[in-house]
Amino acid sequence: MSKLSTNPKDYELLVDSPGRINIIGEHTDYNNGFVLPTAIDKKIRFMFKKNGSDTVCNLYSANFDTSYTFSLEDVSPGDQQWANYILGVIHGVQQHTDKLRGFDCVLDSNIPVGSGISSSAALECGLGFGVNELFDCGLDRITITKIGQKAEHDYVGTKCGIMDQFASVMSKEGNVILLDCQSLEYKYVPIHIKPYKILLLNTNVSHNLADGEYNKRRAQCESGVAIIQSKYSNVNSLRDVSPEMLAEFKNEMDDVVYNRCSYVVDEKVRVLDTVEALNNNDLARMGKNMYKTHEGLSKLYEVSCPELDFLVEFSKGYNEVIGSRVMGGGFGGCTINIIHEDAVEKFTKEAEKAYFEKFNIKLTAFEANPSEGTSIVK
Ligand code: ADP
Ligand code: MG
Repeated sequence: MSKLSTNPKDYELLVDSPGRINIIGEHTDYNNGFVLPTAIDKKIRFMFKKNGSDTVCNLYSANFDTSYTFSLEDVSPGDQQWANYILGVIHGVQQHTDKLRGFDCVLDSNIPVGSGISSSAALECGLGFGVNELFDCGLDRITITKIGQKAEHDYVGTKCGIMDQFASVMSKEGNVILLDCQSLEYKYVPIHIKPYKILLLNTNVSHNLADGEYNKRRAQCESGVAIIQSKYSNVNSLRDVSPEMLAEFKNEMDDVVYNRCSYVVDEKVRVLDTVEALNNNDLARMGKNMYKTHEGLSKLYEVSCPELDFLVEFSKGYNEVIGSRVMGGGFGGCTINIIHEDAVEKFTKEAEKAYFEKFNIKLTAFEANPSEGTSIVK
């Protein structure tokens, strides 16, 4: 196959699929807790057209400069990881409809990969949203998020929660989403933080969640729940456990499992407290919660790394930074910082310098603006 055209004029449908940030509520989604994410102004742009074939689909990722061709009659995981996200979504859509036919799809992205901004959910959901539009499949947005999550579970092997997909697809500009990952009930919470800004600092240390640490955390939480269930049979997940209840099991749980659970039950309280803080315009309280979250993720949940810890500690030297923490799965990626707009330039410069001196790695900083979820451009 020759390379697909990258000229938008050659396509009938253009879709923007954003990455996301999460203000607070980390590693809580798969524990049925709450999260507070929103889409941002970094995205994958997809271009789609029907190609006249019944079955042949051609893909091209411009920023990876890689092509992939597959048949709708033979959709199963292959040896190219990036294509597996897409194949998993196609498989998911096929469970709902037989309307899919051959298509060409080119995508180009400015979401840093493997940095906790969820390029994977943007990939899954943009593709799902696009083919749904192109072939008029009639799937609603929530179904598209679930298909994306299942693709990541079954075709890639990361047992992710629903947060990333939900934020990418459902966000509304100027808001964060308070999402209850148990019921999928959600509420938009306006985020007015001027004169503060959201600054992401990318350590450029990359994780690979599929590597197993993520799934290990998940299993540790589940084993904690199993112990709690011996006394409280109505507990289904850490969502149902308060910090006081958990304390009863301190001597019955392995220390590591106890620490994991302890972080999660505290984090649930912090998310709800942060929503109240946002509603009251109490940014200082929001920021304090973010610092506490980082401490929990670093010491109890153990998903930080020296680079992330360094940046969060570094931020504490600046009064203008009111909150900072690792964002996303961890083991690298970005910190999210709430910083006064007047200090962004100075702080960024000094953080870059200090980070380079310490680790000999270039830091990348960028502002993130809460943005609309998946949308049709044309
Ligand atoms: P994150 O979601 O935090 O960015 P993940 O490891 O979950 O990190 O997902 C990254 C993977 O998603 C990449 O390794 C690649 O397989 C796929 N991916 C993301 N963006 C693109 C893209 N523009 N083109 C092709 N594949 C992509
Ligand atoms: Mg991901």
